[in-house]
Amino acid sequence: MLKIYNTLTRKKETFRPVMKDKVRMYVCGPTVYNYISIGNARPVIVFNMVRNYLEYLGYEVIYVQNVTDIDDKIIRKANEENVDFKTVASKYIKAFTEDIKSLKVSSFTRMPLASEMIEDIINIIQRIIENGYGYVAGGNVFFDVRKFDRNYGKLSGQNIEEMESQEGDIFGKKDKVDFALWKSAKPGEPYWNSPWGKGRPGWHIECTAMATKYLGHGIDIHGGGMDLIFPHHENEIAQAEAAFPGKGAFVKYWMHNGMIEVREEKMSKSAGLEENWILRNLLKSYSHNVIKMYMLTTHYRSPLEFNEEKLEESRKALERLINTLVNIRFLIESYKQKSRTLHMFQEHSSARADSEIDSMLDKCHNDFVESMNDDFNSAKALSHLFELVKKVNSIIQSADFVMADSMSKTLERVYNMINELGVIFGFDFEEEIMKITSRTGDSKDIDREEIERLIRLRQEARKNKDFKLADEIRDELYEKGIILEDRREGTIWKVREKE
Ligand SMILES: [Zn+2]
Repeated sequence: MLKIYNTLTRKKETFRPVMKDKVRMYVCGPTVYNYISIGNARPVIVFNMVRNYLEYLGYEVIYVQNVTDIDDKIIRKANEENVDFKTVASKYIKAFTEDIKSLKVSSFTRMPLASEMIEDIINIIQRIIENGYGYVAGGNVFFDVRKFDRNYGKLSGQNIEEMESQEGDIFGKKDKVDFALWKSAKPGEPYWNSPWGKGRPGWHIECTAMATKYLGHGIDIHGGGMDLIFPHHENEIAQAEAAFPGKGAFVKYWMHNGMIEVREEKMSKSAGLEENWILRNLLKSYSHNVIKMYMLTTHYRSPLEFNEEKLEESRKALERLINTLVNIRFLIESYKQKSRTLHMFQEHSSARADSEIDSMLDKCHNDFVESMNDDFNSAKALSHLFELVKKVNSIIQSADFVMADSMSKTLERVYNMINELGVIFGFDFEEEIMKITSRTGDSKDIDREEIERLIRLRQEARKNKDFKLADEIRDELYEKGIILEDRREGTIWKVREKE
Protein backbone atom coordinates (compact mmCIF):
# COMPACT_ATOMS: atom_id res chain seq x y z
CA MET A 1 0.00 0.00 0.00
CA LEU A 2 1.50 3.33 -1.07
CA LYS A 3 1.98 5.95 1.65
CA ILE A 4 2.61 9.60 0.88
CA TYR A 5 3.83 12.29 3.25
CA ASN A 6 1.15 14.97 3.07
CA THR A 7 2.44 18.48 3.83
CA LEU A 8 -1.11 19.47 4.78
CA THR A 9 -1.46 16.93 7.60
CA ARG A 10 2.29 16.61 8.31
CA LYS A 11 2.16 12.83 8.28
CA LYS A 12 2.40 9.85 5.96
CA GLU A 13 -1.02 8.79 4.75
CA THR A 14 -2.21 5.78 2.78
CA PHE A 15 -2.75 6.93 -0.78
CA ARG A 16 -6.34 6.66 -1.94
CA PRO A 17 -7.09 8.64 -5.08
CA VAL A 18 -10.55 10.16 -5.44
CA MET A 19 -11.23 8.01 -8.50
CA LYS A 20 -10.29 4.36 -8.23
CA ASP A 21 -7.88 3.95 -11.13
CA LYS A 22 -7.06 7.50 -12.06
CA VAL A 23 -4.66 9.96 -10.43
CA ARG A 24 -4.89 13.67 -11.18
CA MET A 25 -1.65 15.47 -10.50
CA TYR A 26 -0.58 19.12 -10.74
CA VAL A 27 2.98 20.41 -10.36
CA CYS A 28 4.14 24.03 -10.44
CA GLY A 29 6.51 24.69 -13.32
CA PRO A 30 9.15 27.30 -14.02
CA THR A 31 8.91 31.04 -14.55
CA VAL A 32 10.47 31.53 -17.96
CA TYR A 33 12.93 34.40 -17.62
CA ASN A 34 16.12 32.34 -17.71
CA TYR A 35 17.48 28.84 -18.42
CA ILE A 36 16.39 26.37 -15.79
CA SER A 37 18.85 25.46 -13.06
CA ILE A 38 19.59 22.08 -11.51
CA GLY A 39 17.27 23.33 -8.73
CA ASN A 40 14.37 23.66 -11.17
CA ALA A 41 15.19 20.21 -12.52
CA ARG A 42 14.60 18.55 -9.15
CA PRO A 43 10.77 18.74 -9.16
CA VAL A 44 10.81 17.69 -12.82
CA ILE A 45 12.81 14.53 -12.03
CA VAL A 46 11.07 13.83 -8.70
CA PHE A 47 7.50 14.14 -9.99
CA ASN A 48 8.39 12.20 -13.12
CA MET A 49 9.35 9.37 -10.75
CA VAL A 50 6.11 9.84 -8.80
CA ARG A 51 4.09 9.64 -12.00
CA ASN A 52 6.05 6.63 -13.31
CA TYR A 53 5.67 4.74 -10.05
CA LEU A 54 1.93 5.41 -9.93
CA GLU A 55 1.71 4.07 -13.49
CA TYR A 56 3.79 1.07 -12.43
CA LEU A 57 1.17 0.44 -9.73
CA GLY A 58 -1.47 0.45 -12.45
CA TYR A 59 -2.96 3.93 -12.19
CA GLU A 60 -3.72 6.12 -15.14
CA VAL A 61 -2.04 9.45 -14.39
CA ILE A 62 -3.05 12.87 -15.70
CA TYR A 63 -0.11 15.18 -15.10
CA VAL A 64 -0.47 18.93 -15.59
CA GLN A 65 2.47 21.29 -15.19
CA ASN A 66 2.19 25.01 -15.82
CA VAL A 67 4.63 27.51 -17.23
CA THR A 68 4.54 31.04 -15.78
CA ASP A 69 5.04 33.35 -18.74
CA ILE A 70 3.64 36.52 -17.15
CA ASP A 71 5.72 37.74 -14.23
CA ASP A 72 7.65 40.73 -12.86
CA LYS A 73 10.98 39.01 -13.52
CA ILE A 74 10.11 38.43 -17.18
CA ILE A 75 8.94 42.02 -17.61
CA ARG A 76 12.09 43.31 -15.91
CA LYS A 77 14.31 41.24 -18.18
CA ALA A 78 12.37 42.38 -21.27
CA ASN A 79 12.82 46.01 -20.25
CA GLU A 80 16.53 45.48 -19.63
CA GLU A 81 16.94 43.93 -23.05
CA ASN A 82 14.56 46.43 -24.64
CA VAL A 83 12.34 43.72 -26.14
CA ASP A 84 8.73 42.63 -25.78
CA PHE A 85 8.03 40.35 -22.76
CA LYS A 86 6.81 37.70 -25.19
CA THR A 87 10.25 37.58 -26.82
CA VAL A 88 11.83 36.74 -23.46
CA ALA A 89 9.09 34.27 -22.49
CA SER A 90 9.08 32.37 -25.79
CA LYS A 91 12.89 32.11 -25.83
CA TYR A 92 12.89 30.41 -22.42
CA ILE A 93 9.78 28.31 -23.05
CA LYS A 94 11.63 26.89 -26.02
CA ALA A 95 14.73 26.36 -23.88
CA PHE A 96 12.67 24.66 -21.15
CA THR A 97 11.06 22.33 -23.68
CA GLU A 98 14.50 21.42 -25.05
CA ASP A 99 15.87 20.83 -21.55
CA ILE A 100 12.96 18.55 -20.64
CA LYS A 101 13.66 16.62 -23.80
CA SER A 102 17.35 16.24 -22.97
CA LEU A 103 16.42 15.14 -19.45
CA LYS A 104 14.35 12.36 -21.02
CA VAL A 105 11.41 12.53 -18.66
CA SER A 106 7.99 11.46 -19.94
CA SER A 107 5.92 14.32 -21.24
CA PHE A 108 3.23 16.15 -19.28
CA THR A 109 -0.37 15.46 -20.18
CA ARG A 110 -0.71 19.24 -20.49
CA MET A 111 1.62 22.20 -20.14
CA PRO A 112 -0.57 25.32 -20.09
CA LEU A 113 0.88 28.85 -20.22
CA ALA A 114 -0.46 31.61 -17.96
CA SER A 115 -0.92 33.89 -20.98
CA GLU A 116 -3.33 31.37 -22.53
CA MET A 117 -5.50 31.30 -19.41
CA ILE A 118 -6.54 34.94 -19.06
CA GLU A 119 -10.23 34.29 -19.65
CA ASP A 120 -10.35 31.47 -17.11
CA ILE A 121 -8.35 33.54 -14.63
CA ILE A 122 -10.79 36.47 -14.96
CA ASN A 123 -13.73 34.10 -14.41
CA ILE A 124 -12.22 32.69 -11.24
CA ILE A 125 -11.40 36.16 -9.87
CA GLN A 126 -15.01 37.18 -10.54
CA ARG A 127 -16.26 34.18 -8.59
CA ILE A 128 -13.97 35.05 -5.68
CA ILE A 129 -15.31 38.64 -5.64
CA GLU A 130 -18.94 37.46 -5.91
CA ASN A 131 -18.44 35.04 -3.03
CA GLY A 132 -17.17 37.91 -0.87
CA TYR A 133 -13.47 37.00 -0.69
CA GLY A 134 -12.07 39.57 -3.08
CA TYR A 135 -12.13 43.37 -3.34
CA VAL A 136 -11.34 45.84 -6.07
CA ALA A 137 -9.17 48.87 -5.42
CA GLY A 138 -7.97 51.22 -8.16
CA GLY A 139 -7.79 48.64 -10.92
CA ASN A 140 -6.22 46.03 -8.62
CA VAL A 141 -8.09 43.07 -7.17
CA PHE A 142 -7.01 41.60 -3.83
CA PHE A 143 -7.81 38.46 -1.94
CA ASP A 144 -9.30 39.28 1.46
CA VAL A 145 -7.37 36.83 3.61
CA ARG A 146 -9.18 37.59 6.88
CA LYS A 147 -12.58 36.91 5.28
CA PHE A 148 -11.47 33.42 4.21
CA ASP A 149 -13.04 31.09 6.75
CA ARG A 150 -11.32 27.82 5.83
CA ASN A 151 -8.22 28.27 7.92
CA TYR A 152 -5.77 30.33 5.90
CA GLY A 153 -2.33 29.07 6.95
CA LYS A 154 -3.31 25.42 7.22
CA LEU A 155 -0.74 24.23 4.69
CA SER A 156 2.25 26.19 5.97
CA GLY A 157 1.18 25.86 9.59
CA GLN A 158 1.20 29.58 10.20
CA ASN A 159 -0.98 31.94 12.13
CA ILE A 160 -2.26 34.99 10.21
CA GLU A 161 -1.15 37.29 13.02
CA GLU A 162 2.44 36.17 12.60
CA MET A 163 2.53 36.28 8.81
CA GLU A 164 4.83 38.55 6.92
CA SER A 165 3.49 41.04 4.43
CA GLN A 166 2.92 39.59 0.99
CA GLU A 167 4.19 41.36 -2.13
CA GLY A 168 4.91 44.64 -0.32
CA ASP A 169 2.55 47.59 -0.52
CA ILE A 170 0.41 47.73 -3.61
CA PHE A 171 -2.05 50.57 -4.02
CA GLY A 172 -5.40 49.80 -2.36
CA LYS A 173 -4.34 46.79 -0.29
CA LYS A 174 -6.28 46.82 2.99
CA ASP A 175 -4.25 44.35 4.96
CA LYS A 176 -0.61 43.33 4.75
CA VAL A 177 -1.54 39.62 4.48
CA ASP A 178 -3.83 40.19 1.46
CA PHE A 179 -2.41 39.35 -1.96
CA ALA A 180 -3.09 40.48 -5.52
CA LEU A 181 -5.35 38.48 -7.83
CA TRP A 182 -5.15 41.09 -10.56
CA LYS A 183 -2.67 43.93 -10.96
CA SER A 184 -3.47 47.08 -12.91
CA ALA A 185 -0.98 47.76 -15.70
CA LYS A 186 1.79 50.26 -15.15
CA PRO A 187 3.07 52.17 -18.19
CA GLY A 188 5.23 49.95 -20.39
CA GLU A 189 3.86 46.71 -18.96
CA PRO A 190 1.95 44.07 -20.90
CA TYR A 191 -1.77 44.10 -20.17
CA TRP A 192 -5.07 42.40 -20.89
CA ASN A 193 -8.54 43.93 -20.71
CA SER A 194 -10.63 42.95 -17.71
CA PRO A 195 -13.76 44.12 -15.88
CA TRP A 196 -11.36 46.07 -13.61
CA GLY A 197 -9.46 47.76 -16.41
CA LYS A 198 -6.21 46.98 -18.19
CA GLY A 199 -3.97 44.72 -16.17
CA ARG A 200 -2.47 41.30 -15.65
CA PRO A 201 -3.03 38.37 -13.28
CA GLY A 202 -1.13 37.89 -10.03
CA TRP A 203 1.11 34.84 -9.92
CA HIS A 204 -0.87 32.54 -7.63
CA ILE A 205 -4.18 32.69 -9.49
CA GLU A 206 -2.85 31.01 -12.68
CA CYS A 207 -2.26 27.69 -10.90
CA THR A 208 -5.73 27.68 -9.34
CA ALA A 209 -7.25 28.41 -12.74
CA MET A 210 -5.23 25.73 -14.54
CA ALA A 211 -5.59 23.03 -11.89
CA THR A 212 -9.37 23.42 -11.59
CA LYS A 213 -9.83 23.75 -15.35
CA TYR A 214 -7.85 20.67 -16.35
CA LEU A 215 -8.17 18.49 -13.24
CA GLY A 216 -11.37 19.59 -11.51
CA HIS A 217 -11.71 19.69 -7.75
CA GLY A 218 -10.28 17.54 -4.97
CA ILE A 219 -7.27 16.82 -7.16
CA ASP A 220 -5.18 13.93 -5.89
CA ILE A 221 -1.63 15.25 -5.82
CA HIS A 222 -0.30 18.79 -5.97
CA GLY A 223 3.46 19.08 -6.02
CA GLY A 224 6.24 21.63 -6.11
CA GLY A 225 9.34 22.76 -4.28
CA MET A 226 9.18 23.46 -0.55
CA ASP A 227 9.83 27.14 -1.26
CA LEU A 228 6.34 27.28 -2.78
CA ILE A 229 4.43 26.17 0.34
CA PHE A 230 4.06 29.76 1.46
CA PRO A 231 2.67 31.91 0.09
CA HIS A 232 2.10 30.32 -3.33
CA HIS A 233 0.37 27.06 -2.38
CA GLU A 234 -1.37 28.56 0.64
CA ASN A 235 -2.87 31.11 -1.76
CA GLU A 236 -3.77 28.49 -4.38
CA ILE A 237 -5.86 26.72 -1.72
CA ALA A 238 -7.52 29.95 -0.56
CA GLN A 239 -8.40 30.98 -4.12
CA ALA A 240 -9.77 27.59 -5.18
CA GLU A 241 -11.84 27.08 -2.04
CA ALA A 242 -13.11 30.69 -2.10
CA ALA A 243 -14.11 30.45 -5.77
CA PHE A 244 -15.76 27.02 -5.40
CA PRO A 245 -16.86 26.75 -1.75
CA GLY A 246 -19.20 23.85 -2.47
CA LYS A 247 -16.51 21.64 -4.02
CA GLY A 248 -14.65 20.65 -0.85
CA ALA A 249 -10.88 20.60 -0.43
CA PHE A 250 -8.85 21.80 -3.42
CA VAL A 251 -6.17 19.09 -3.07
CA LYS A 252 -5.97 15.76 -1.25
CA TYR A 253 -2.21 15.19 -0.99
CA TRP A 254 0.34 18.01 -1.01
CA MET A 255 3.86 16.86 -1.90
CA HIS A 256 6.95 19.08 -1.68
CA ASN A 257 10.49 18.37 -2.75
CA GLY A 258 13.45 19.70 -0.76
CA MET A 259 15.69 22.40 -2.15
CA ILE A 260 19.08 22.00 -3.77
CA GLU A 261 21.65 23.87 -1.75
CA VAL A 262 25.03 25.26 -2.61
CA ARG A 263 26.78 25.50 0.74
CA GLU A 264 24.61 27.99 2.62
CA GLU A 265 22.49 29.23 -0.24
CA LYS A 266 19.24 27.76 -1.43
CA MET A 267 18.90 27.40 -5.16
CA SER A 268 15.47 28.86 -5.67
CA LYS A 269 14.07 30.96 -8.43
CA SER A 270 15.18 34.16 -6.74
CA ALA A 271 18.82 33.16 -6.46
CA GLY A 272 21.21 34.29 -9.15
CA LEU A 273 22.19 31.72 -11.70
CA GLU A 274 25.79 30.57 -11.89
CA GLU A 275 27.00 28.96 -15.08
CA ASN A 276 27.47 25.51 -13.54
CA TRP A 277 23.98 25.49 -11.98
CA ILE A 278 22.36 25.77 -15.39
CA LEU A 279 20.94 22.39 -16.34
CA ARG A 280 21.88 22.58 -20.01
CA ASN A 281 25.50 23.30 -19.09
CA LEU A 282 25.57 20.33 -16.69
CA LEU A 283 24.06 18.09 -19.35
CA LYS A 284 27.17 18.71 -21.47
CA SER A 285 29.28 16.90 -18.87
CA TYR A 286 26.81 14.52 -17.25
CA SER A 287 24.21 12.32 -18.92
CA HIS A 288 20.58 12.60 -17.84
CA ASN A 289 21.05 9.19 -16.18
CA VAL A 290 23.85 10.55 -13.98
CA ILE A 291 21.81 13.61 -13.01
CA LYS A 292 18.83 11.40 -12.11
CA MET A 293 21.10 9.11 -10.09
CA TYR A 294 22.43 12.15 -8.22
CA MET A 295 18.92 13.41 -7.44
CA LEU A 296 17.23 10.12 -6.61
CA THR A 297 19.87 8.68 -4.31
CA THR A 298 18.57 11.29 -1.84
CA HIS A 299 14.99 11.21 -0.58
CA TYR A 300 12.92 13.82 -2.40
CA ARG A 301 11.98 15.71 0.76
CA SER A 302 15.56 16.05 2.01
CA PRO A 303 17.74 18.98 1.07
CA LEU A 304 20.31 18.04 -1.55
CA GLU A 305 23.74 19.53 -1.71
CA PHE A 306 25.01 20.54 -5.11
CA ASN A 307 28.63 19.92 -5.92
CA GLU A 308 30.50 18.23 -8.71
CA GLU A 309 31.98 15.53 -6.44
CA LYS A 310 28.47 14.26 -5.79
CA LEU A 311 27.81 14.15 -9.52
CA GLU A 312 31.08 12.23 -10.00
CA GLU A 313 30.05 9.72 -7.31
CA SER A 314 26.76 9.21 -9.11
CA ARG A 315 28.56 8.72 -12.39
CA LYS A 316 30.69 5.96 -10.81
CA ALA A 317 27.68 4.27 -9.19
CA LEU A 318 25.92 4.25 -12.54
CA GLU A 319 29.03 2.84 -14.22
CA ARG A 320 29.17 -0.09 -11.78
CA LEU A 321 25.57 -0.93 -12.53
CA ILE A 322 26.00 -0.60 -16.29
CA ASN A 323 29.17 -2.73 -16.27
CA THR A 324 27.26 -5.54 -14.58
CA LEU A 325 24.47 -5.27 -17.14
CA VAL A 326 27.06 -5.40 -19.93
CA ASN A 327 28.62 -8.50 -18.39
CA ILE A 328 25.25 -10.21 -18.01
CA ARG A 329 24.34 -9.44 -21.58
CA PHE A 330 27.64 -10.74 -22.80
CA LEU A 331 27.16 -14.01 -20.89
CA ILE A 332 23.68 -14.50 -22.26
CA GLU A 333 24.61 -13.66 -25.83
CA SER A 334 27.76 -15.73 -25.98
CA TYR A 335 25.95 -18.66 -24.38
CA LYS A 336 23.19 -18.45 -26.96
CA GLN A 337 25.72 -18.33 -29.75
CA LYS A 338 27.63 -21.34 -28.41
CA SER A 339 24.46 -23.32 -27.83
CA ARG A 340 23.53 -22.77 -31.43
CA THR A 341 26.85 -23.78 -32.89
CA LEU A 342 27.76 -26.63 -30.51
CA HIS A 343 24.25 -27.84 -29.70
CA MET A 344 25.41 -27.53 -26.14
CA PHE A 345 22.96 -28.28 -23.39
CA GLN A 346 23.89 -27.92 -19.77
CA GLU A 347 20.98 -28.17 -17.41
CA HIS A 348 22.22 -28.66 -13.91
CA SER A 349 25.76 -27.48 -13.56
CA SER A 350 24.92 -24.21 -11.82
CA ALA A 351 21.68 -25.09 -10.09
CA ARG A 352 22.76 -23.69 -6.74
CA ALA A 353 23.90 -20.29 -8.05
CA ASP A 354 20.79 -20.26 -10.17
CA SER A 355 18.33 -20.62 -7.31
CA GLU A 356 20.43 -18.19 -5.27
CA ILE A 357 20.06 -15.48 -7.90
CA ASP A 358 16.42 -16.37 -8.30
CA SER A 359 15.56 -15.75 -4.65
CA MET A 360 17.71 -12.58 -4.57
CA LEU A 361 15.71 -11.33 -7.52
CA ASP A 362 12.38 -11.80 -5.73
CA LYS A 363 13.71 -10.24 -2.56
CA CYS A 364 15.09 -7.26 -4.44
CA HIS A 365 11.78 -6.70 -6.15
CA ASN A 366 9.83 -6.87 -2.88
CA ASP A 367 12.26 -4.59 -1.07
CA PHE A 368 12.18 -2.16 -3.96
CA VAL A 369 8.37 -1.92 -3.93
CA GLU A 370 8.31 -1.66 -0.15
CA SER A 371 10.74 1.28 -0.22
CA MET A 372 8.85 3.04 -2.99
CA ASN A 373 5.58 2.52 -1.14
CA ASP A 374 7.13 4.30 1.81
CA ASP A 375 6.71 7.83 0.47
CA PHE A 376 8.73 7.19 -2.71
CA ASN A 377 11.96 6.35 -0.92
CA SER A 378 13.98 6.16 -4.11
CA ALA A 379 17.27 6.28 -2.20
CA LYS A 380 16.46 3.04 -0.41
CA ALA A 381 14.91 1.44 -3.50
CA LEU A 382 18.10 2.17 -5.45
CA SER A 383 20.25 0.71 -2.70
CA HIS A 384 18.34 -2.58 -3.11
CA LEU A 385 19.08 -2.54 -6.83
CA PHE A 386 22.76 -1.93 -6.13
CA GLU A 387 22.83 -4.76 -3.64
CA LEU A 388 21.42 -7.12 -6.26
CA VAL A 389 23.90 -5.91 -8.84
CA LYS A 390 26.78 -6.46 -6.44
CA LYS A 391 25.71 -10.00 -5.52
CA VAL A 392 24.97 -11.07 -9.09
CA ASN A 393 28.28 -9.63 -10.17
CA SER A 394 30.20 -11.62 -7.57
CA ILE A 395 28.43 -14.83 -8.61
CA ILE A 396 29.09 -14.45 -12.32
CA GLN A 397 32.71 -13.46 -11.67
CA SER A 398 33.40 -16.43 -9.40
CA ALA A 399 35.77 -19.15 -10.67
CA ASP A 400 33.23 -21.97 -10.48
CA PHE A 401 30.51 -20.14 -12.36
CA VAL A 402 29.06 -22.12 -15.26
CA MET A 403 26.44 -21.01 -17.72
CA ALA A 404 23.50 -23.30 -18.41
CA ASP A 405 20.09 -22.96 -20.01
CA SER A 406 18.32 -22.18 -16.77
CA MET A 407 21.05 -19.75 -15.67
CA SER A 408 20.79 -17.96 -18.98
CA LYS A 409 17.06 -17.48 -18.37
CA THR A 410 17.63 -16.35 -14.78
CA LEU A 411 20.21 -13.80 -15.86
CA GLU A 412 17.81 -12.56 -18.50
CA ARG A 413 15.26 -11.97 -15.73
CA VAL A 414 17.86 -10.03 -13.73
CA TYR A 415 18.70 -7.94 -16.77
CA ASN A 416 15.07 -7.20 -17.58
CA MET A 417 14.06 -6.44 -14.01
CA ILE A 418 16.89 -3.95 -13.46
CA ASN A 419 15.95 -2.22 -16.70
CA GLU A 420 12.24 -2.18 -15.89
CA LEU A 421 12.67 -0.81 -12.38
CA GLY A 422 15.14 1.73 -13.73
CA VAL A 423 12.44 3.11 -16.02
CA ILE A 424 10.46 4.22 -12.93
CA PHE A 425 13.27 6.66 -12.15
CA GLY A 426 13.48 7.74 -15.76
CA PHE A 427 16.72 5.84 -16.35
CA ASP A 428 17.61 4.59 -19.80
CA PHE A 429 20.23 1.96 -19.02
CA GLU A 430 20.20 0.68 -22.60
CA GLU A 431 21.47 4.07 -23.70
CA GLU A 432 24.46 3.79 -21.32
CA ILE A 433 25.08 0.19 -22.40
CA MET A 434 25.15 1.34 -26.02
CA LYS A 435 27.76 3.95 -25.15
CA ILE A 436 30.02 1.27 -23.72
CA THR A 437 29.50 -1.40 -26.34
CA SER A 438 29.45 0.81 -29.41
CA ARG A 439 32.15 3.26 -28.43
CA THR A 440 34.84 3.04 -25.86
CA GLY A 441 34.09 5.99 -23.66
CA ASP A 442 35.25 9.56 -23.97
CA SER A 443 38.52 10.65 -25.51
CA LYS A 444 39.65 7.09 -26.30
CA ASP A 445 40.60 6.74 -29.92
CA ILE A 446 39.68 3.11 -30.40
CA ASP A 447 36.43 1.68 -31.71
CA ARG A 448 34.54 -1.52 -31.06
CA GLU A 449 35.78 -3.26 -34.19
CA GLU A 450 39.40 -2.56 -33.35
CA ILE A 451 38.94 -3.90 -29.80
CA GLU A 452 37.40 -7.07 -31.09
CA ARG A 453 40.07 -7.53 -33.73
CA LEU A 454 42.75 -7.28 -31.01
CA ILE A 455 40.87 -9.71 -28.77
CA ARG A 456 40.73 -12.25 -31.61
CA LEU A 457 44.44 -11.72 -32.26
CA ARG A 458 45.16 -12.30 -28.57
CA GLN A 459 43.06 -15.47 -28.50
CA GLU A 460 45.02 -16.72 -31.48
CA ALA A 461 48.27 -15.90 -29.65
CA ARG A 462 47.14 -17.74 -26.52
CA LYS A 463 46.19 -20.76 -28.60
CA ASN A 464 49.72 -20.72 -30.02
CA LYS A 465 51.11 -20.34 -26.49
CA ASP A 466 52.56 -16.96 -27.41
CA PHE A 467 51.76 -15.49 -23.99
CA LYS A 468 54.16 -12.61 -24.48
CA LEU A 469 52.15 -11.32 -27.44
CA ALA A 470 48.89 -12.01 -25.60
CA ASP A 471 50.04 -9.91 -22.66
CA GLU A 472 51.24 -7.15 -24.92
CA ILE A 473 47.82 -6.93 -26.53
CA ARG A 474 46.15 -6.88 -23.12
CA ASP A 475 48.46 -4.04 -22.01
CA GLU A 476 47.88 -2.11 -25.19
CA LEU A 477 44.14 -2.28 -24.66
CA TYR A 478 44.52 -1.30 -21.00
CA GLU A 479 46.44 1.78 -22.06
CA LYS A 480 43.49 2.69 -24.26
CA GLY A 481 41.11 2.34 -21.33
CA ILE A 482 39.86 -1.16 -22.06
CA ILE A 483 39.94 -3.95 -19.48
CA LEU A 484 39.82 -7.61 -20.52
CA GLU A 485 38.40 -10.40 -18.43
CA ASP A 486 39.00 -14.00 -19.44
CA ARG A 487 36.06 -16.28 -18.83
CA ARG A 488 35.29 -19.86 -19.63
CA GLU A 489 32.82 -18.45 -22.17
CA GLY A 490 35.33 -16.17 -23.79
CA THR A 491 36.87 -12.79 -23.18
CA ILE A 492 34.80 -9.88 -21.90
CA TRP A 493 35.96 -6.33 -22.41
CA LYS A 494 34.80 -3.22 -20.62
CA VAL A 495 35.71 0.42 -20.31
CA ARG A 496 38.01 1.21 -17.43
CA GLU A 497 36.46 3.45 -14.75
CA LYS A 498 38.03 6.87 -14.57
CA GLU A 499 40.34 7.21 -11.60
ZN1 LIG B 1 1.79 27.05 -8.85
